[in-house]
Amino acid sequence: MNELLRKSAAEQSKALKNKEVSAVELTTAALNRIKSIDEKLGAFNSLTEKTALETAKKVDEKIAKGEDLPLLAGIPLALKDNMNLVGSRTTASSKILENFVSPFNATITQKLLDNLVPILGKANLDEFAMGSSNENSAFKKVHNPWDLNKVPGGSSGGSAASVASCEVTLSLGSDTGGSIRLPASFCGIVGMKPTYGRVSRYGLIAFASSLDQIGPFARTVEDAANLLEVIAGHDPKDSTSLNLPVEHYADSLNNDIKGLRVGVIKELMSEGLAPDVQKAIEVAIDCYKKLGAEIVEISLPNLKHSIGIYYILATAECSSNLARFDGVRYGYRTPDAKNLLEMYTKTRAEGFGPEVKRRIMLGTYALSSGYYDAYYKKAQQMRALVTQDFVEAFKKADILVSPTCPNTAFELGAKSNDPLAMYLTDIATISANLAGIPGLSVPAGFDKDGMPIGLQILAPQLQEARLFNAAHKFERANDYYKKLANI
Ligand code: GLN
Repeated sequence: MNELLRKSAAEQSKALKNKEVSAVELTTAALNRIKSIDEKLGAFNSLTEKTALETAKKVDEKIAKGEDLPLLAGIPLALKDNMNLVGSRTTASSKILENFVSPFNATITQKLLDNLVPILGKANLDEFAMGSSNENSAFKKVHNPWDLNKVPGGSSGGSAASVASCEVTLSLGSDTGGSIRLPASFCGIVGMKPTYGRVSRYGLIAFASSLDQIGPFARTVEDAANLLEVIAGHDPKDSTSLNLPVEHYADSLNNDIKGLRVGVIKELMSEGLAPDVQKAIEVAIDCYKKLGAEIVEISLPNLKHSIGIYYILATAECSSNLARFDGVRYGYRTPDAKNLLEMYTKTRAEGFGPEVKRRIMLGTYALSSGYYDAYYKKAQQMRALVTQDFVEAFKKADILVSPTCPNTAFELGAKSNDPLAMYLTDIATISANLAGIPGLSVPAGFDKDGMPIGLQILAPQLQEARLFNAAHKFERANDYYKKLANI
């Protein structure tokens, strides 16, 4: 393995600028690593070698001419396979889109191409981003690079595993209820969900539109901050995107955090927490104390309702979003239907996997006229209460901390037959999506079996700079980020 692949994007950028390596060489090395280890990992659905090498070549031409490089130019990256890239298969890990080739670029894709970031491939995920373990992919499971018998977390499991195993240096995921932060935590890397509206969703295959947000994965906080800067910003093609300037987050990474009020979420520090996780988070809180922060206890009384609220709203939105997959316009169509109705029903019965069907049925039920007030409307009202809890919390604290997940990565298959147990994996992450606030998972140690533990940090809306600053200070006060999966 080319040792440079283990380095951060910041270090790789330096090597490119100093001509220690060419962008084509770096991209080729990453592609070779994917080809040699991905059989074991299952992180990629497809490779986009041609696009990657073309972009890398452009970077080398710029370097040869002595021109300045855009941020992250030449750094190998993977896209979650629910994001469109012209000419690539974009499957959402579903049989219904198995042979769908993107006719357009997502806005984030276009921004990456404009910045000359080579896109090496499309990362595996839970079908339509529904899941917490990446076992719901219609094609193959993703394995955790720290222990191949364990799950990488989901739904952006391929995006996380590819960065954790140094197949690529950066990747993008989407987070509807924790799908960036959870796999980042299980795979021992940094994963960040921005404020709702900070990143355009145009060209992201929609799951639950009021919750979905695209965000970065990286092995350091600095790299994640730079990647967010590249993809963030207003987009007229997404009516929910915020029309606000994008900050240069790297500028505030080293700000002093003396006096920063760190709120510890009481409800996430007690019941059901694995002892090793609890210990690691207590050590992390201590670390903040040593860095001069002020620790306060925070209560989010409605947090306990967040999973229930989410599974009404997310399923309702997905039942509507997924109505477009009907065999008429694109995607899979059943080969043997006798009439139109049978074509619709058979296409959807054959094209969707069991978890997606479960969600569509739940969501359709929640939205049906007799039950709308009892479920959907109630859940919307409860969502407002969860949001209000955060408003109150951020009067007393500047950031909030908790474990990203009450446990570390579990064995493949351990929760496959128990959807409720699987849903509970997201207890710490879901409420940030309901409130639209930014959140991040940063490595915070290992359990007794050597599996990574993640510290979740949350900040008020649009306080990404504060979030990255607090995470960077923690990262550099420890050396967890230096330990890489041995694969
Ligand atoms: N695990 C949650 C779910 O299954 C969240 C998924 C996500 O964030 N995309 O819906």
